[in-house]
Amino acid sequence: MTATTDLVSYEDALASYDPVMGLEVHVELGTKTKMFCGCSTELGAEPNSQACPTCLGMPGALPVVNAIGVESAIKIGLALHCEIAEWCRFARKNYFYPDMPKNFQTSQYDEPIAFNGYLDVQLEDGEVFRVEIERAHMEEDTGKSTHVGGATGRIHGASHSLLDYNRAGIPLIEIVTKPIEGAGERAPEVAKAYVAELRELIKALGVSEARMEMGQMRCDVNLSLRPHGREKFGTRSETKNVNSLRSVERAARFEIQRHAAVLDGGGTIIQETRHFHEDTGSTTSGRVKEEAEDYRYFPEPDLVPVAPSREWVEELRAGLPEQPLARRNRLREEWGVSAHDMQSMLNAGAIDLIVATIDAGADAASARKWWMGELARTANETGVPLEALPITPEQVARVTALVAEGSLNDKLARQVIEGVVKGEGGPDEVVEKRGLKVVSDEGALTAAVDEAIAANPGVADKIRAGKVAAAGALVGAVMKATRGQADAARVKELVLERLGATEG
Ligand code: ADP
Ligand code: MG
Ligand code: ZN
Repeated sequence: MTATTDLVSYEDALASYDPVMGLEVHVELGTKTKMFCGCSTELGAEPNSQACPTCLGMPGALPVVNAIGVESAIKIGLALHCEIAEWCRFARKNYFYPDMPKNFQTSQYDEPIAFNGYLDVQLEDGEVFRVEIERAHMEEDTGKSTHVGGATGRIHGASHSLLDYNRAGIPLIEIVTKPIEGAGERAPEVAKAYVAELRELIKALGVSEARMEMGQMRCDVNLSLRPHGREKFGTRSETKNVNSLRSVERAARFEIQRHAAVLDGGGTIIQETRHFHEDTGSTTSGRVKEEAEDYRYFPEPDLVPVAPSREWVEELRAGLPEQPLARRNRLREEWGVSAHDMQSMLNAGAIDLIVATIDAGADAASARKWWMGELARTANETGVPLEALPITPEQVARVTALVAEGSLNDKLARQVIEGVVKGEGGPDEVVEKRGLKVVSDEGALTAAVDEAIAANPGVADKIRAGKVAAAGALVGAVMKATRGQADAARVKELVLERLGATEG
Protein backbone atom coordinates (compact mmCIF):
# COMPACT_ATOMS: atom_id res chain seq x y z
CA MET A 1 0.00 0.00 0.00
CA THR A 2 2.00 2.99 -1.21
CA ALA A 3 -0.72 5.48 -2.09
CA THR A 4 -0.79 8.26 0.50
CA THR A 5 -4.05 9.79 1.46
CA ASP A 6 -4.57 13.55 1.46
CA LEU A 7 -5.36 14.84 4.91
CA VAL A 8 -6.43 18.18 6.33
CA SER A 9 -5.13 19.10 9.78
CA TYR A 10 -7.52 18.08 12.53
CA GLU A 11 -8.08 21.69 13.60
CA ASP A 12 -8.85 22.85 10.05
CA ALA A 13 -11.25 19.96 9.51
CA LEU A 14 -13.18 20.87 12.67
CA ALA A 15 -13.18 24.54 11.70
CA SER A 16 -15.30 23.71 8.63
CA TYR A 17 -17.23 20.54 9.51
CA ASP A 18 -19.17 18.73 12.23
CA PRO A 19 -18.50 15.01 12.49
CA VAL A 20 -21.41 12.56 12.76
CA MET A 21 -20.58 9.05 13.97
CA GLY A 22 -22.28 5.71 14.22
CA LEU A 23 -20.70 2.90 16.20
CA GLU A 24 -21.53 -0.75 15.62
CA VAL A 25 -20.03 -3.03 18.24
CA HIS A 26 -20.02 -6.81 17.96
CA VAL A 27 -19.69 -8.73 21.20
CA GLU A 28 -18.96 -12.44 21.20
CA LEU A 29 -20.91 -14.01 24.05
CA GLY A 30 -19.20 -16.35 26.47
CA THR A 31 -21.81 -19.12 26.16
CA LYS A 32 -20.54 -22.71 26.37
CA THR A 33 -22.24 -23.66 23.11
CA LYS A 34 -22.99 -21.95 19.81
CA MET A 35 -26.09 -19.86 19.11
CA PHE A 36 -28.06 -22.43 17.13
CA CYS A 37 -26.42 -25.80 17.81
CA GLY A 38 -24.67 -27.67 20.61
CA CYS A 39 -21.11 -27.24 19.32
CA SER A 40 -18.55 -26.09 21.85
CA THR A 41 -17.24 -22.52 21.70
CA GLU A 42 -13.99 -23.34 23.48
CA LEU A 43 -11.03 -21.50 21.96
CA GLY A 44 -7.88 -23.15 20.74
CA ALA A 45 -9.32 -26.45 19.50
CA GLU A 46 -8.13 -28.17 16.32
CA PRO A 47 -9.57 -26.38 13.26
CA ASN A 48 -13.01 -27.70 12.28
CA SER A 49 -13.27 -29.99 15.30
CA GLN A 50 -16.18 -27.96 16.66
CA ALA A 51 -18.61 -27.91 13.76
CA CYS A 52 -21.74 -29.90 12.99
CA PRO A 53 -24.34 -30.17 10.22
CA THR A 54 -26.29 -27.24 11.69
CA CYS A 55 -23.50 -24.68 11.91
CA LEU A 56 -22.17 -25.91 8.56
CA GLY A 57 -25.61 -25.34 7.02
CA MET A 58 -26.13 -28.83 5.65
CA PRO A 59 -29.49 -29.59 4.06
CA GLY A 60 -32.09 -30.69 6.57
CA ALA A 61 -30.18 -29.63 9.68
CA LEU A 62 -32.34 -27.60 12.02
CA PRO A 63 -31.18 -24.80 14.32
CA VAL A 64 -32.36 -24.35 17.93
CA VAL A 65 -31.91 -21.05 19.77
CA ASN A 66 -29.48 -20.96 22.69
CA ALA A 67 -31.48 -19.76 25.71
CA ILE A 68 -28.40 -18.27 27.41
CA GLY A 69 -27.76 -16.33 24.19
CA VAL A 70 -31.23 -14.79 24.39
CA GLU A 71 -30.88 -14.12 28.11
CA SER A 72 -27.54 -12.37 27.53
CA ALA A 73 -29.05 -10.23 24.77
CA ILE A 74 -31.88 -9.17 27.07
CA LYS A 75 -29.45 -8.35 29.88
CA ILE A 76 -27.37 -6.21 27.52
CA GLY A 77 -30.51 -4.51 26.23
CA LEU A 78 -31.76 -3.76 29.73
CA ALA A 79 -28.38 -2.48 30.89
CA LEU A 80 -28.46 -0.12 27.89
CA HIS A 81 -31.91 1.15 28.99
CA CYS A 82 -33.52 -0.37 25.90
CA GLU A 83 -37.06 -1.57 25.37
CA ILE A 84 -37.21 -5.34 25.04
CA ALA A 85 -39.30 -6.73 22.18
CA GLU A 86 -42.37 -8.69 23.25
CA TRP A 87 -42.01 -10.74 20.12
CA CYS A 88 -39.24 -10.80 17.54
CA ARG A 89 -37.78 -13.03 14.90
CA PHE A 90 -34.49 -13.98 13.38
CA ALA A 91 -33.81 -13.16 9.75
CA ARG A 92 -31.55 -14.55 7.07
CA LYS A 93 -28.97 -12.13 5.75
CA ASN A 94 -28.04 -13.69 2.44
CA TYR A 95 -24.58 -13.43 0.99
CA PHE A 96 -21.82 -15.73 -0.08
CA TYR A 97 -18.44 -15.81 1.55
CA PRO A 98 -16.30 -18.91 2.10
CA ASP A 99 -16.15 -18.39 5.85
CA MET A 100 -19.94 -18.59 6.03
CA PRO A 101 -20.87 -22.12 5.01
CA LYS A 102 -24.65 -21.60 5.20
CA ASN A 103 -24.52 -18.81 2.59
CA PHE A 104 -26.56 -16.70 4.94
CA GLN A 105 -25.98 -15.31 8.40
CA THR A 106 -28.75 -15.86 10.92
CA SER A 107 -29.27 -12.38 12.27
CA GLN A 108 -32.09 -10.04 13.17
CA TYR A 109 -33.26 -7.35 10.82
CA ASP A 110 -36.31 -5.18 11.41
CA GLU A 111 -37.24 -6.96 14.65
CA PRO A 112 -34.30 -6.63 17.04
CA ILE A 113 -34.66 -8.00 20.56
CA ALA A 114 -33.70 -4.64 22.11
CA PHE A 115 -34.09 -1.08 20.86
CA ASN A 116 -34.18 2.60 21.86
CA GLY A 117 -31.73 2.89 24.68
CA TYR A 118 -28.75 4.94 25.74
CA LEU A 119 -25.40 4.70 27.44
CA ASP A 120 -23.87 7.57 29.41
CA VAL A 121 -20.14 7.82 28.91
CA GLN A 122 -17.65 9.94 30.76
CA LEU A 123 -14.99 11.98 29.00
CA GLU A 124 -11.47 12.70 30.25
CA ASP A 125 -12.54 15.97 31.88
CA GLY A 126 -15.37 14.28 33.76
CA GLU A 127 -18.18 15.51 31.53
CA VAL A 128 -20.89 12.95 30.79
CA PHE A 129 -22.02 12.46 27.19
CA ARG A 130 -25.14 10.47 26.36
CA VAL A 131 -24.87 8.08 23.41
CA GLU A 132 -28.27 6.96 22.11
CA ILE A 133 -28.65 3.31 21.22
CA GLU A 134 -30.63 2.34 18.14
CA ARG A 135 -30.77 -1.41 18.68
CA ALA A 136 -29.07 -4.51 20.01
CA HIS A 137 -29.69 -7.70 18.13
CA MET A 138 -28.65 -11.34 18.13
CA GLU A 139 -26.66 -12.97 15.38
CA GLU A 140 -23.86 -15.44 14.82
CA ASP A 141 -20.18 -15.19 14.04
CA THR A 142 -18.61 -16.44 10.81
CA GLY A 143 -15.75 -18.92 10.46
CA LYS A 144 -12.19 -17.77 10.13
CA SER A 145 -10.23 -17.59 6.87
CA THR A 146 -6.47 -17.63 6.86
CA HIS A 147 -5.00 -16.38 3.58
CA VAL A 148 -1.68 -18.04 2.90
CA GLY A 149 1.18 -16.97 0.67
CA GLY A 150 0.62 -13.21 0.39
CA ALA A 151 2.69 -10.55 2.09
CA THR A 152 -0.11 -8.89 4.02
CA GLY A 153 -2.23 -11.79 5.21
CA ARG A 154 -5.08 -10.37 3.12
CA ILE A 155 -6.66 -12.29 0.29
CA HIS A 156 -4.91 -10.21 -2.37
CA GLY A 157 -1.71 -11.94 -3.38
CA ALA A 158 -2.49 -15.11 -1.42
CA SER A 159 -1.93 -18.49 -3.06
CA HIS A 160 -4.66 -20.27 -1.11
CA SER A 161 -6.89 -19.89 1.93
CA LEU A 162 -7.56 -22.12 4.92
CA LEU A 163 -10.97 -22.24 6.59
CA ASP A 164 -11.79 -22.98 10.19
CA TYR A 165 -15.48 -23.23 11.07
CA ASN A 166 -15.02 -23.54 14.83
CA ARG A 167 -16.09 -19.91 15.20
CA ALA A 168 -19.02 -20.19 12.77
CA GLY A 169 -22.20 -19.91 14.81
CA ILE A 170 -20.73 -18.46 18.02
CA PRO A 171 -23.31 -16.03 19.40
CA LEU A 172 -22.79 -12.34 18.72
CA ILE A 173 -24.71 -9.37 19.96
CA GLU A 174 -24.48 -6.36 17.67
CA ILE A 175 -25.08 -3.04 19.36
CA VAL A 176 -25.74 -0.09 17.05
CA THR A 177 -25.83 3.55 18.11
CA LYS A 178 -28.05 6.22 16.66
CA PRO A 179 -26.06 8.87 14.81
CA ILE A 180 -23.86 10.60 17.39
CA GLU A 181 -24.06 14.33 16.78
CA GLY A 182 -22.80 17.34 18.65
CA ALA A 183 -19.54 15.87 19.93
CA GLY A 184 -17.54 18.22 17.69
CA GLU A 185 -13.80 17.95 18.15
CA ARG A 186 -14.36 15.42 20.88
CA ALA A 187 -15.98 12.88 18.54
CA PRO A 188 -12.95 10.53 18.57
CA GLU A 189 -12.80 10.77 22.35
CA VAL A 190 -16.51 10.01 22.61
CA ALA A 191 -16.06 6.97 20.37
CA LYS A 192 -13.30 5.64 22.57
CA ALA A 193 -15.15 6.40 25.80
CA TYR A 194 -18.27 4.69 24.47
CA VAL A 195 -16.46 1.48 23.58
CA ALA A 196 -14.64 1.54 26.92
CA GLU A 197 -17.91 2.00 28.82
CA LEU A 198 -19.64 -0.70 26.82
CA ARG A 199 -16.77 -3.07 27.54
CA GLU A 200 -17.13 -2.42 31.28
CA LEU A 201 -20.86 -3.00 31.07
CA ILE A 202 -20.49 -6.28 29.20
CA LYS A 203 -17.91 -7.51 31.70
CA ALA A 204 -20.07 -6.44 34.64
CA LEU A 205 -22.99 -8.39 33.18
CA GLY A 206 -20.76 -11.45 32.96
CA VAL A 207 -21.95 -12.25 29.43
CA SER A 208 -18.52 -12.01 27.80
CA GLU A 209 -14.96 -11.22 28.78
CA ALA A 210 -15.06 -8.60 26.01
CA ARG A 211 -11.34 -8.92 25.27
CA MET A 212 -10.79 -6.67 22.27
CA GLU A 213 -7.35 -8.02 21.43
CA MET A 214 -8.91 -11.48 21.13
CA GLY A 215 -11.68 -10.29 18.85
CA GLN A 216 -14.36 -10.85 21.48
CA MET A 217 -15.40 -7.26 21.01
CA ARG A 218 -14.85 -5.26 17.81
CA CYS A 219 -16.11 -1.95 16.57
CA ASP A 220 -17.11 -0.59 13.17
CA VAL A 221 -16.68 3.17 13.07
CA ASN A 222 -19.11 4.96 10.73
CA LEU A 223 -18.22 8.56 10.14
CA SER A 224 -19.39 11.44 8.01
CA LEU A 225 -18.87 15.18 7.97
CA ARG A 226 -21.31 17.98 7.28
CA PRO A 227 -20.54 21.66 6.94
CA HIS A 228 -21.41 23.69 10.06
CA GLY A 229 -25.06 24.68 10.01
CA ARG A 230 -26.20 22.00 7.60
CA GLU A 231 -28.74 19.51 8.85
CA LYS A 232 -28.47 16.75 6.28
CA PHE A 233 -25.85 14.12 7.01
CA GLY A 234 -22.96 13.65 4.66
CA THR A 235 -22.03 10.28 3.15
CA ARG A 236 -20.41 7.93 5.67
CA SER A 237 -17.47 5.63 5.51
CA GLU A 238 -17.43 2.52 7.66
CA THR A 239 -14.09 1.47 9.13
CA LYS A 240 -14.48 -2.21 10.00
CA ASN A 241 -13.37 -4.36 12.92
CA VAL A 242 -11.32 -1.89 14.87
CA ASN A 243 -10.02 -3.86 17.83
CA SER A 244 -8.58 -1.60 20.49
CA LEU A 245 -9.78 1.51 22.30
CA ARG A 246 -6.86 3.51 21.02
CA SER A 247 -7.51 2.41 17.46
CA VAL A 248 -11.18 3.43 17.68
CA GLU A 249 -10.08 6.94 18.58
CA ARG A 250 -7.39 7.05 15.91
CA ALA A 251 -9.65 5.68 13.18
CA ALA A 252 -12.28 8.35 13.87
CA ARG A 253 -9.65 11.06 13.89
CA PHE A 254 -8.07 9.89 10.66
CA GLU A 255 -11.43 9.66 8.88
CA ILE A 256 -12.31 13.20 9.96
CA GLN A 257 -9.09 14.46 8.41
CA ARG A 258 -9.50 12.36 5.27
CA HIS A 259 -13.15 13.28 4.67
CA ALA A 260 -12.32 16.97 5.11
CA ALA A 261 -9.58 16.74 2.49
CA VAL A 262 -11.92 15.07 0.00
CA LEU A 263 -14.73 17.56 0.64
CA ASP A 264 -12.42 20.60 0.62
CA GLY A 265 -11.10 19.43 -2.75
CA GLY A 266 -14.64 19.39 -4.16
CA GLY A 267 -14.73 15.58 -4.23
CA THR A 268 -17.43 13.23 -2.98
CA ILE A 269 -17.14 10.61 -0.27
CA ILE A 270 -17.94 7.12 -1.48
CA GLN A 271 -20.02 5.00 0.87
CA GLU A 272 -17.57 2.15 1.42
CA THR A 273 -16.02 -0.01 4.08
CA ARG A 274 -12.45 0.73 5.08
CA HIS A 275 -9.64 -1.10 6.88
CA PHE A 276 -7.73 0.45 9.75
CA HIS A 277 -3.96 -0.07 9.93
CA GLU A 278 -2.44 -0.07 13.42
CA ASP A 279 1.07 0.67 12.20
CA THR A 280 0.26 3.89 10.34
CA GLY A 281 -2.98 4.90 12.04
CA SER A 282 -4.56 5.25 8.60
CA THR A 283 -7.45 3.63 6.77
CA THR A 284 -7.59 2.24 3.25
CA SER A 285 -10.50 1.48 0.99
CA GLY A 286 -12.31 -1.86 1.39
CA ARG A 287 -15.40 -2.64 -0.62
CA VAL A 288 -18.26 -0.50 -1.83
CA LYS A 289 -21.01 -0.77 0.72
CA GLU A 290 -24.03 -2.96 0.02
CA GLU A 291 -27.49 -1.62 0.61
CA ALA A 292 -29.78 -3.60 2.88
CA GLU A 293 -31.79 -4.73 -0.16
CA ASP A 294 -28.75 -6.51 -1.50
CA TYR A 295 -28.97 -9.00 1.32
CA ARG A 296 -32.52 -10.10 0.53
CA TYR A 297 -33.36 -10.36 4.21
CA PHE A 298 -36.30 -12.57 5.07
CA PRO A 299 -37.62 -14.06 8.32
CA GLU A 300 -35.84 -17.27 9.29
CA PRO A 301 -38.36 -20.06 8.69
CA ASP A 302 -36.55 -22.70 10.76
CA LEU A 303 -36.62 -20.84 14.07
CA VAL A 304 -39.57 -19.98 16.28
CA PRO A 305 -40.05 -16.32 17.16
CA VAL A 306 -38.54 -15.14 20.43
CA ALA A 307 -41.21 -13.87 22.82
CA PRO A 308 -39.63 -13.22 26.23
CA SER A 309 -42.28 -13.07 28.96
CA ARG A 310 -42.49 -9.80 30.87
CA GLU A 311 -41.94 -11.72 34.12
CA TRP A 312 -38.62 -13.03 32.81
CA VAL A 313 -37.57 -9.60 31.59
CA GLU A 314 -38.38 -8.05 34.97
CA GLU A 315 -36.51 -10.82 36.75
CA LEU A 316 -33.44 -10.09 34.62
CA ARG A 317 -33.82 -6.36 35.19
CA ALA A 318 -33.90 -6.91 38.95
CA GLY A 319 -30.67 -8.88 38.74
CA LEU A 320 -28.68 -6.24 36.83
CA PRO A 321 -25.38 -5.20 38.40
CA GLU A 322 -24.55 -1.63 39.37
CA GLN A 323 -23.89 0.49 36.27
CA PRO A 324 -20.13 0.72 35.74
CA LEU A 325 -20.15 4.53 35.62
CA ALA A 326 -22.02 4.72 38.94
CA ARG A 327 -19.66 2.13 40.36
CA ARG A 328 -16.63 4.13 39.23
CA ASN A 329 -18.03 7.23 40.86
CA ARG A 330 -18.52 5.28 44.07
CA LEU A 331 -14.99 3.85 43.89
CA ARG A 332 -13.58 7.30 43.18
CA GLU A 333 -15.00 8.49 46.48
CA GLU A 334 -13.75 5.41 48.32
CA TRP A 335 -10.26 5.57 46.85
CA GLY A 336 -10.01 9.35 46.81
CA VAL A 337 -8.81 9.62 43.21
CA SER A 338 -9.48 12.16 40.45
CA ALA A 339 -11.77 11.63 37.46
CA HIS A 340 -8.69 11.62 35.29
CA ASP A 341 -6.99 8.85 37.29
CA MET A 342 -10.17 6.82 37.17
CA GLN A 343 -10.28 7.26 33.39
CA SER A 344 -6.72 5.95 33.12
CA MET A 345 -7.68 2.89 35.15
CA LEU A 346 -10.71 2.37 32.94
CA ASN A 347 -8.69 2.60 29.74
CA ALA A 348 -6.09 0.24 31.12
CA GLY A 349 -8.80 -2.30 32.01
CA ALA A 350 -7.51 -2.17 35.59
CA ILE A 351 -10.60 -1.45 37.67
CA ASP A 352 -11.79 -5.02 38.23
CA LEU A 353 -8.22 -6.14 38.92
CA ILE A 354 -7.73 -3.42 41.51
CA VAL A 355 -11.06 -4.24 43.16
CA ALA A 356 -10.14 -7.94 43.27
CA THR A 357 -6.74 -7.08 44.77
CA ILE A 358 -8.42 -5.02 47.48
CA ASP A 359 -10.87 -7.87 48.09
CA ALA A 360 -7.84 -10.11 48.55
CA GLY A 361 -6.63 -7.91 51.40
CA ALA A 362 -4.57 -5.09 49.85
CA ASP A 363 -5.20 -1.46 50.68
CA ALA A 364 -6.58 0.63 47.81
CA ALA A 365 -3.53 2.83 47.32
CA SER A 366 -1.12 -0.11 47.06
CA ALA A 367 -3.40 -2.09 44.76
CA ARG A 368 -3.64 0.92 42.46
CA LYS A 369 0.04 1.63 42.63
CA TRP A 370 1.15 -1.82 41.47
CA TRP A 371 -1.46 -2.32 38.75
CA MET A 372 -1.10 1.15 37.27
CA GLY A 373 2.68 1.34 37.78
CA GLU A 374 4.91 -1.68 37.47
CA LEU A 375 2.27 -3.97 35.94
CA ALA A 376 0.90 -1.42 33.46
CA ARG A 377 4.45 -0.81 32.31
CA THR A 378 5.05 -4.53 31.85
CA ALA A 379 1.76 -4.85 29.96
CA ASN A 380 2.72 -1.99 27.66
CA GLU A 381 6.18 -3.34 27.02
CA THR A 382 4.94 -6.80 26.18
CA GLY A 383 1.84 -5.67 24.32
CA VAL A 384 -0.38 -7.79 26.56
CA PRO A 385 -3.49 -6.39 28.27
CA LEU A 386 -3.26 -6.12 32.05
CA GLU A 387 -5.82 -8.83 32.68
CA ALA A 388 -3.81 -11.26 30.56
CA LEU A 389 -0.58 -10.84 32.53
CA PRO A 390 0.32 -14.07 34.31
CA ILE A 391 -0.21 -12.65 37.80
CA THR A 392 -3.39 -12.76 39.84
CA PRO A 393 -4.93 -10.11 42.10
CA GLU A 394 -4.33 -12.49 45.02
CA GLN A 395 -0.61 -12.57 44.19
CA VAL A 396 -0.43 -8.78 43.96
CA ALA A 397 -2.22 -8.59 47.31
CA ARG A 398 0.37 -10.97 48.78
CA VAL A 399 3.17 -8.70 47.57
CA THR A 400 1.51 -5.69 49.22
CA ALA A 401 1.19 -7.71 52.43
CA LEU A 402 4.91 -8.52 52.37
CA VAL A 403 5.65 -4.81 51.92
CA ALA A 404 3.28 -3.86 54.74
CA GLU A 405 4.89 -6.29 57.17
CA GLY A 406 8.34 -4.97 56.26
CA SER A 407 9.66 -8.13 54.57
CA LEU A 408 9.96 -6.30 51.26
CA ASN A 409 10.63 -2.73 50.30
CA ASP A 410 9.29 -1.31 47.04
CA LYS A 411 12.42 -2.06 45.11
CA LEU A 412 12.39 -5.70 46.15
CA ALA A 413 8.64 -5.92 45.60
CA ARG A 414 9.18 -4.86 42.00
CA GLN A 415 11.61 -7.73 41.57
CA VAL A 416 9.13 -10.15 43.12
CA ILE A 417 6.44 -9.00 40.72
CA GLU A 418 8.82 -9.35 37.82
CA GLY A 419 9.62 -12.89 38.94
CA VAL A 420 5.95 -13.86 39.20
CA VAL A 421 5.24 -12.46 35.73
CA LYS A 422 8.21 -14.39 34.37
CA GLY A 423 6.70 -17.60 35.69
CA GLU A 424 9.12 -18.19 38.56
CA GLY A 425 6.27 -19.02 40.93
CA GLY A 426 4.10 -17.20 43.47
CA PRO A 427 5.41 -14.22 45.48
CA ASP A 428 6.73 -16.29 48.39
CA GLU A 429 8.46 -18.70 46.05
CA VAL A 430 10.13 -15.84 44.15
CA VAL A 431 11.28 -14.22 47.42
CA GLU A 432 12.77 -17.56 48.44
CA LYS A 433 14.40 -18.40 45.11
CA ARG A 434 15.83 -14.96 44.46
CA GLY A 435 16.78 -14.35 48.09
CA LEU A 436 14.86 -11.08 48.24
CA LYS A 437 14.11 -10.66 51.91
CA VAL A 438 14.77 -7.30 53.50
CA VAL A 439 17.73 -7.42 55.88
CA SER A 440 15.91 -6.99 59.16
CA ASP A 441 18.57 -8.48 61.38
CA GLU A 442 19.26 -5.44 63.60
CA GLY A 443 22.77 -6.58 64.37
CA ALA A 444 23.74 -6.83 60.72
CA LEU A 445 22.04 -3.53 59.94
CA THR A 446 23.78 -1.72 62.77
CA ALA A 447 27.12 -3.08 61.63
CA ALA A 448 26.43 -1.81 58.10
CA VAL A 449 25.45 1.59 59.48
CA ASP A 450 28.63 1.81 61.57
CA GLU A 451 30.69 0.90 58.54
CA ALA A 452 29.05 3.65 56.51
CA ILE A 453 29.69 6.16 59.29
CA ALA A 454 33.33 5.15 59.48
CA ALA A 455 33.73 5.46 55.72
CA ASN A 456 32.14 8.94 55.60
CA PRO A 457 33.45 10.88 58.60
CA GLY A 458 32.68 14.28 57.03
CA VAL A 459 29.03 13.45 56.52
CA ALA A 460 28.80 11.95 59.98
CA ASP A 461 30.12 15.18 61.53
CA LYS A 462 27.50 17.24 59.71
CA ILE A 463 24.75 15.02 61.05
CA ARG A 464 26.17 15.16 64.55
CA ALA A 465 26.11 18.95 64.19
CA GLY A 466 22.36 18.74 63.50
CA LYS A 467 22.26 18.65 59.68
CA VAL A 468 19.84 15.71 59.57
CA ALA A 469 19.25 16.12 55.83
CA ALA A 470 22.76 14.81 55.21
CA ALA A 471 21.65 11.38 56.48
CA GLY A 472 20.52 10.48 52.95
CA ALA A 473 24.11 9.88 51.86
CA LEU A 474 24.66 7.35 54.65
CA VAL A 475 21.33 5.65 54.07
CA GLY A 476 22.32 5.35 50.42
CA ALA A 477 25.63 3.76 51.34
CA VAL A 478 23.91 1.21 53.59
CA MET A 479 21.31 0.39 50.93
CA LYS A 480 24.12 -0.18 48.47
CA ALA A 481 26.02 -2.37 50.89
CA THR A 482 22.91 -4.51 51.49
CA ARG A 483 22.11 -4.64 47.77
CA GLY A 484 18.86 -2.78 48.36
CA GLN A 485 17.59 -5.36 50.79
CA ALA A 486 17.28 -3.11 53.81
CA ASP A 487 14.29 -1.10 54.97
CA ALA A 488 15.43 2.45 54.16
CA ALA A 489 13.26 4.02 56.88
CA ARG A 490 14.76 1.78 59.56
CA VAL A 491 18.27 2.47 58.26
CA LYS A 492 17.70 6.20 58.60
CA GLU A 493 16.49 5.76 62.16
CA LEU A 494 19.60 3.77 62.99
CA VAL A 495 21.92 6.34 61.38
CA LEU A 496 20.40 9.14 63.47
CA GLU A 497 20.40 6.98 66.58
CA ARG A 498 24.10 6.08 66.25
CA LEU A 499 25.03 9.73 65.68
CA GLY A 500 22.85 11.04 68.49
CA ALA A 501 20.82 13.20 66.16
CA THR A 502 17.03 13.50 66.09
CA GLU A 503 14.70 14.21 63.22
CA GLY A 504 13.18 17.69 62.86
P1 ADP B 1 -25.05 -0.91 8.12
O1 ADP B 1 -25.26 -2.27 8.67
O2 ADP B 1 -25.35 -0.75 6.71
O3 ADP B 1 -23.71 -0.38 8.44
P2 ADP B 1 -26.49 0.21 10.32
O4 ADP B 1 -27.73 1.02 10.34
O5 ADP B 1 -26.48 -1.10 10.99
O6 ADP B 1 -26.10 0.06 8.82
O7 ADP B 1 -25.32 1.05 10.96
C1 ADP B 1 -24.96 2.28 10.51
C2 ADP B 1 -24.40 3.09 11.66
O8 ADP B 1 -23.98 4.34 11.17
C3 ADP B 1 -25.43 3.42 12.71
O9 ADP B 1 -24.76 3.54 13.95
C4 ADP B 1 -25.99 4.76 12.28
O10 ADP B 1 -26.44 5.52 13.36
C5 ADP B 1 -24.77 5.41 11.68
N1 ADP B 1 -25.02 6.30 10.55
C6 ADP B 1 -26.00 6.24 9.64
N2 ADP B 1 -25.88 7.23 8.73
C7 ADP B 1 -24.75 7.91 9.06
C8 ADP B 1 -24.07 9.04 8.50
N3 ADP B 1 -24.48 9.64 7.41
N4 ADP B 1 -22.96 9.46 9.13
C9 ADP B 1 -22.49 8.85 10.23
N5 ADP B 1 -23.09 7.79 10.80
C10 ADP B 1 -24.21 7.33 10.22
MG1 MG C 1 -22.41 -1.55 9.40
ZN1 ZN D 1 -22.58 -26.84 15.27
